[in-house]
Amino acid sequence: MTDVKLVDAPAGYTGEGFFATSLDKIVGLARANSLWPLPFATSCCGIEFMATMASNYDLGRFGAERLSFSPRQADLLMVMGTISKKMGPILKQVYLQMAEPRWVLAVGACATTGGIFDSYSVLQGIDRIIPVDVYVPGCAPRPEQIIEGILRIQDLVKNEPLRRRNSPEYKELLESYGIM
Ligand code: SF4
Repeated sequence: MTDVKLVDAPAGYTGEGFFATSLDKIVGLARANSLWPLPFATSCCGIEFMATMASNYDLGRFGAERLSFSPRQADLLMVMGTISKKMGPILKQVYLQMAEPRWVLAVGACATTGGIFDSYSVLQGIDRIIPVDVYVPGCAPRPEQIIEGILRIQDLVKNEPLRRRNSPEYKELLESYGIM
C-alpha cells in the first residue's frame, strides 16, 4: 500500500500492450511535472514561498522542488514581492535570460498590481514589463494559494501546443513588450 499518487495519463488510445497519444501531450506531461522555478522574491510574499517549499506543503510533491537561481536553468519565473521601478529592468533581464518555453507566475498583490504601494516608485504590476501567465491574489497569499497558482501553470504547460512559441500571436505578445 502506497500513498504515492501517479499523475493521470494524457488522453489517448489504449489497447493490449500499447498506449498511443500525441507528442504534444507527452512533452506537456513531462514538462508540467518537472518545472524548475526561479524564485524572484523581494519581500514578504517570499516568506510565504519559503513555507510553500517546506515540509508541511512541500512543492516537491508537484515535481517543482528543484529551484534554480540561474535564469538559464529555469522555466518558471515566480515573482513574489514588491517590485520597484528601479528593479523593473533587472526583472526583465532575468526573464530575457530564460530559455523558451518559459512561464511567469505573479504571486501576491504587489507583483500583480503594486498592491497597497500606489506610489511613484513602485511598479504597478509586473505585467507592465513582462507577460504573465497566472496571477495569485492575496496579501500575502497563503501557501495553498501559491500551490493553486502552480497547478494552474501546470494546466497551461500540459496543454500548450509545441508550436505555440513560434506562432504569430506569441511573437506579437512579445513585441508588445519590446521583446523581439
Ligand atoms: S502582496 Fe502583501 S505580503 Fe506580498 S509582498 Fe506585497 S505587501 Fe508583502
